Amino acid sequence: MIKRPIYEASAFVLSFLDYGESDRIVTFFTDKYGKIKGIAKGARRSKKRFANAIELFSHSRILFSRNRKDSLFLIENSDVIDHYPKIREDLEKTMAASYIIELAAHFTAEGKKSKKTFSLLKDFFEFLDRKKFTEESLRFFELRLIKLSGYEPVLEVCVACNTPLDEIKAPRFSATDGGIVCVECSRQRPGSLPVSVGTLKMLLMGKEMEMEKIHRLNLSKQSSRESKAILESFIPFILGKELKSVRVLKEIKRLMV
Ligand SMILES: [Zn+2]
Repeated sequence: MIKRPIYEASAFVLSFLDYGESDRIVTFFTDKYGKIKGIAKGARRSKKRFANAIELFSHSRILFSRNRKDSLFLIENSDVIDHYPKIREDLEKTMAASYIIELAAHFTAEGKKSKKTFSLLKDFFEFLDRKKFTEESLRFFELRLIKLSGYEPVLEVCVACNTPLDEIKAPRFSATDGGIVCVECSRQRPGSLPVSVGTLKMLLMGKEMEMEKIHRLNLSKQSSRESKAILESFIPFILGKELKSVRVLKEIKRLMV
């Protein structure tokens, strides 16, 4: 009998689908193999083998194998590294976690590994678990993830004519061009959004900052509003759709008004 090789990885649960009577098909983002999809047989029955290691946004160590190249991985076993109880007991943090996990699922491709994306997820979850949540911190996560996926927006110069940010009087952001545009270039871009130089500088600074220090960055109301608006126009443009967690959040906010 040929023994199947067993792989081991540290992984975040990006999504899952209950299958049959007791199985669960899980999409993970792993440190060593990038995004993978596997089936955890009997997952909903065997509390001992899987415990809460395959719940949404759990960070776990998984053991897996597969029979053929094209089949789903078979999740043999998993142990929770961190279940993030402080995130789960706070509605705002849970919503933020669901959003970043959905973003990560969309901005990564199966089998394409990225240690930096894994570290970003891990750092952000630790930040969310330990520090006070701020809406602004999501902007820095978004920018970093977009950068790692190769869609980094151009914020330093006009994307159309290369005029440096410092020489642009009233910059605007054009999602379809993937960056800021100067006053002249913005005339041919009716969908572009106004964004102040101060907001752009803050985003450029925050994008390079250590995650530990991000909670100290205090965005003004205007910067917070502008950065949200530009990323809200840019992300659906890259992905070609609006994320489910964003729709849910909007619906909740509408009901709470
Ligand atoms: Zn220009």
